[in-house]
Amino acid sequence: MNIKQQIETLRAQLRAHNYQYYVLDQPSISDFEFDMLLKQLQELEVKHPEFYDPNSPTVRVGGEVTKNFKTVAHTHRMYSLDNSYDRQDLLDWQARIVKNISEEVFSFTCELKYDGASINLTYEEGQLIRAVTRGDGIQGDEVTANIRTIKSIPLSLNGEYPSSMELRGEIILPLEGFHKMNQQRISEGEEPYMNPRNTASGSLKLQDSTLVAERPLDCLIYGIASEDMSIENQIGFLQKAKQWGFKIPDTAKECKTIEEVFDFVDYWDQARHELPYETDGVVIKVNSFAHQEELGYTSKAPRWAIAYKFKAEQKSTILESISYQVGRTGAITPVANLKPVLLAGTVVKRASVHNEDQIKKLDLRIGDSVFVEKGGEIIPKIVGVDLSKRSDSSTLVEFITQCPECHTPLTKQEGDAKHYCPNTYGCPPQITGRIEHFISRKAMDIDGIGAETVQLLFQAGLISTYADLYTLRVEDVMGLDRMAEKSATNMIAGIEASKQKPFEKVLFALGIRYVGETVAEKLAMAFKTIDALAAASLEELIAVDEIGERIAKSVIEFFEDLGNTMIVERLKTYGLQLALSEEKLKSQSDILKGKVFVVSGVFSIYSRDELKSLIKDNGAKVSSSISSKTDYLVAGDNMGPSKRKKAESLGVSIISEADFQEMIQ
Ligand code: AMP
Ligand code: ZN
Repeated sequence: MNIKQQIETLRAQLRAHNYQYYVLDQPSISDFEFDMLLKQLQELEVKHPEFYDPNSPTVRVGGEVTKNFKTVAHTHRMYSLDNSYDRQDLLDWQARIVKNISEEVFSFTCELKYDGASINLTYEEGQLIRAVTRGDGIQGDEVTANIRTIKSIPLSLNGEYPSSMELRGEIILPLEGFHKMNQQRISEGEEPYMNPRNTASGSLKLQDSTLVAERPLDCLIYGIASEDMSIENQIGFLQKAKQWGFKIPDTAKECKTIEEVFDFVDYWDQARHELPYETDGVVIKVNSFAHQEELGYTSKAPRWAIAYKFKAEQKSTILESISYQVGRTGAITPVANLKPVLLAGTVVKRASVHNEDQIKKLDLRIGDSVFVEKGGEIIPKIVGVDLSKRSDSSTLVEFITQCPECHTPLTKQEGDAKHYCPNTYGCPPQITGRIEHFISRKAMDIDGIGAETVQLLFQAGLISTYADLYTLRVEDVMGLDRMAEKSATNMIAGIEASKQKPFEKVLFALGIRYVGETVAEKLAMAFKTIDALAAASLEELIAVDEIGERIAKSVIEFFEDLGNTMIVERLKTYGLQLALSEEKLKSQSDILKGKVFVVSGVFSIYSRDELKSLIKDNGAKVSSSISSKTDYLVAGDNMGPSKRKKAESLGVSIISEADFQEMIQ
């Protein structure tokens, strides 16, 4: 087999496995085997850029960064949908259809209304070439690099398909993945995301497609627009799209009468709570494409389709008490304890009430009968009080003035609705919260130690800061509950190994408020050592790309705290990486400072990613599209002629990768 065939075989294998896993949910090989195949393909592609394919399964991991999303006009407008709320609305709609089509007999297709962000996918000759958000329906943002990382979207299609078509679908974030993302965020001291819909649509506009690839997004297809179509109706289209490789929920149903539509709606109004993703209604469409054409569109929406909106389910129950949780940053979150009630398929016992203002706004009293609702949010919320049922025995909620864990008086700052426990070094949940964050996967990723062990070690008086981890010895921890010699040895080895974690990880692990993973990377690159960062002024911090005043202030506050600087000094003496490595430093310079580069085509000396990091390491910026701000276009093989033209017309210097190599030497 020659190289080309080898590459093609691997791509075909990976495509098939992807489809099995992400569309059919029936994995055909282990994750490990999959990764091995992917790695093999990646290596071949790097060595043989002449076989570059923008739709290779390797693009699924992301890598491309888009600074400014290009606005693109939709070839076929993306309409919104008219809404209906009861049977009469649906009967009226049916009557209008009967009046406006030539045939008497017609049927409907009912689909669920998936709650996410709509996307328009353009395929030419079975290849995904572009993905654009709905925007205002006439034009949207091109987000192709991000969309390519969503594994249930086929990059090249199976079987027979129109040579040119647009498919419409909804990008959703299934509930399980959403919960996991939030657990992670909470463990990092960040506010959890509000709901899956906003998180899904926010994901499409992330600049770094690698981050999109890490999110468990999914795409469900519901529509097509094409000039050359042999497909006759919606239900037939859904079947076809399934064969092409798209994910099509098998909940769609053809209904012969409006009564069948009612049954569908009634059934799913309940059953939707068991689905792995959120829906907010049913979309009813006239099945035949010929009929659809006859009916046409109003200025906003098709006449041949209508959305039926489910009502968010509400229940009334008793507010029994309010308890208070303390986060790793000391933030206090009140939680309502409710008399258990069945809501949207689950028993609800607790509801979130964000802060004191919220309690006042709702005028909550203990013993009140309150309405709880599960909308887009996962945690149900209290939407109001049933004043007609308020009894004399209900009592006002007195927001706590002391920390429930350490009894320190709480503080509250102007402009922040939250209360905080200021006892940073003495409040148990704050202490263990910081250590748990430090060891977590995205931070120091220490093997052999988890949240439970942290509690154990803390209670035994062995640790009270993350720096203490580095003083632990096997014999100290062996006597602890359920801690055998082997696990103790593993734990100490894991802690020892973490001393090699790169500076940016350590910086993230410190748990400075608002300094997430990416911010930590940016700061590490910009300041290079912890001492330089600690000495940086507000102005110097803000001058770094993507660092705003909020983050800058928080960094300064962190290093002004003597307790923090002492811990950092200790980490230094234990040998943690508190500066960029020699290797990283060597590749850093600012000879290209202030310049903007665009990289296009296929390269042979470097991979695209290498090229981009070299540009950044030398102080320049990488942009995804050519504009008047671009200084250099690094042109590789197979660069589109339109790019070259654009660069020429804007007077951008076009250079080869060899030229670039010379520039940085
Ligand atoms: P609206 O945003 O309320 O005007 O509703 C229109 C949107 O519903 C479309 O842009 C789609 O993104 C979304 N939608 C979700 N599921 C479906 C479906 N099965 N058929 C058509 N549109 C859908
Ligand atoms: Zn406290």
